[in-house]
Amino acid sequence: NEQSNKTKMANRKDGKLGIALVGLGNYATNQLAPALQQTEHCTLAGIVTGTPSKIPVWKERYGIVDKNIYNYDNYDSIKDNPDIDIIYVVLPNSMHAEYTIRGFEAGKHVICEKPMAITVEECDGMIAAAKKANRDLSIGYRLHFDPYNLEMVRSGTKKIYGEIKKISGGFGFRANPSQWRLTQKYAGGGPLMDLGIYVIQGMCYTTGMEPLAVTAQEGEKTDFERFREVEQSLTWQFEFPGGITGEGRTSYNDGMNFLKAEAEKGVFELTSAFNYTGQRGSTPDGPMNFPRVNQQAKQMDGIVLAIKNNKPSIVPSEMGRRDVKYLQAVYEAMRTGKRIE
Ligand code: NAD
Repeated sequence: NEQSNKTKMANRKDGKLGIALVGLGNYATNQLAPALQQTEHCTLAGIVTGTPSKIPVWKERYGIVDKNIYNYDNYDSIKDNPDIDIIYVVLPNSMHAEYTIRGFEAGKHVICEKPMAITVEECDGMIAAAKKANRDLSIGYRLHFDPYNLEMVRSGTKKIYGEIKKISGGFGFRANPSQWRLTQKYAGGGPLMDLGIYVIQGMCYTTGMEPLAVTAQEGEKTDFERFREVEQSLTWQFEFPGGITGEGRTSYNDGMNFLKAEAEKGVFELTSAFNYTGQRGSTPDGPMNFPRVNQQAKQMDGIVLAIKNNKPSIVPSEMGRRDVKYLQAVYEAMRTGKRIE
């Protein structure tokens, strides 16, 4: 791996690795591409899109050359393109596994958006493909690079305010999500897959623990038209080691955005926790005050530095797989009404 990484980097004059975005939807267009103008260790080198009308804008805005522009049919020929070191999959959830695996078959590293996939079995296939290709697979968990969320990690795992007794979180908004997000086949579920995953992440990184069991309840459905296939909202309860309880909520209808740890010596929390910017938080010592960062730029640089230095990713595929396992457990608990270990 070391050898092949070095060989690849030697090709690039500025030492930056080239990223190709796959799927030019909202997140790729409005967050990732602009963030790639601020990265130090990687650059926007290519695009993969099924919509030819998008190409001129991307060419003009980012100077992407024709030979680095692909569609879903010639995607696999990206293997012959030395400008592209990393594939970044930003497609609907149900397409993550296929495009990640094809990325590895093309010999590239892959960053895959959250949730890593819809099922644990898909995650296993993606991890196996990474191993076979001897390439890195990381997940787009941007909050591992946000100073406010990192302060939650530090406070919780270093027990700055004593042992945590209870951890709670909620993420939801009144949303009119794109159609695929309301379709079981494409999204794998509703707001839990999209927003609740951040709460699961927050509970795990703040406690530094893994939940042992879960119970869950579907929230009231008021919009039967939009939420025909997936839940409108959902609550769940995690049991962590040592009797720590976790209470999570998510919704496409109710606004909430918080992560709260109740510890022996007081509460530390984010009252605006999961957005791209505008985090707010406090500890028993007072309000948190950290510089604003571009989370996506930090995330991509962090992943690329790990690749370059042959270090484990901060946001590895194993973490993505773990979270998909918890997402599935929450749904199983919701469906059966049982406590799922
Ligand atoms: P989007 O609907 O705006 O974009 C999806 C893209 O996929 C579009 O360009 C669409 O043309 C393309 N596509 C290709 N085949 C498709 C098909 N069969 N059906 C529908 N679209 C198809 O979605 P988005 O908000 O950009 O989300 C994309 C991924 O990024 C999702 O997995 C989502 O969870 C993730 N995401 C992550 C964050 C984050 O903060 N990390 C934020 C937003 C989205």
